[in-house]
Amino acid sequence: MILRVDSDIGGASVTLPLRTSEREALLMVQEKSDWLFTRLDSIPPKVRFEDGAQIPILGEYYTIYHAPYQGEVAIRIDKKIHMGGRKEHLARRLRDWLRREAKNIIQPKAIEMANELNKKVGRITIRDTKSRWGSCSTSGNLSFCWRLILTPEWVLNYVIAHEVSHLVHMNHGSEFWKTVEGFNVQVGDARQWLTENREHIQRYG
Ligand SMILES: [Zn+2]
Repeated sequence: MILRVDSDIGGASVTLPLRTSEREALLMVQEKSDWLFTRLDSIPPKVRFEDGAQIPILGEYYTIYHAPYQGEVAIRIDKKIHMGGRKEHLARRLRDWLRREAKNIIQPKAIEMANELNKKVGRITIRDTKSRWGSCSTSGNLSFCWRLILTPEWVLNYVIAHEVSHLVHMNHGSEFWKTVEGFNVQVGDARQWLTENREHIQRYG
């Protein structure tokens, strides 16, 4: 039997082998309840994309402000993001906007870093990935999770440096890490930040 906490739903699930009764599963959950409740309490709260919500962009917090009469655009003013259009579309449109912003920020950085290695980047795509922050294909295409825009810039820079370095080394050997460090990014701190904040970042939107 496997008891798993799912931070997406803010709950837990139990996987049962064939012919295991629900009763046995419930007993196991009961036995593990101390662990389970501590773990559930540690899940960061979900932050919905709605009027008044606060979201970090490159480490700085912005407040979402629904501005229905400004037309269907998103405008960043001071520490607010004014979202036009209908309220029921706000979440989707904010997510689309963040995705485009992520691309606008990541693309030039990736191209510049690749130039430093005398490499060409293929296509750069921004995805909604759960388990990976970025990836590099053998053909030189890079993909990044849109949620990276919710991380501080020095963390984002590390992820880009990491994927760009795969254009030279398709492994995680010592030469690869030397290349990443050549970009003057905070490798250790950024990796630690991503591990510690993954759940928190996944709870937005
Ligand atoms: Zn890698």
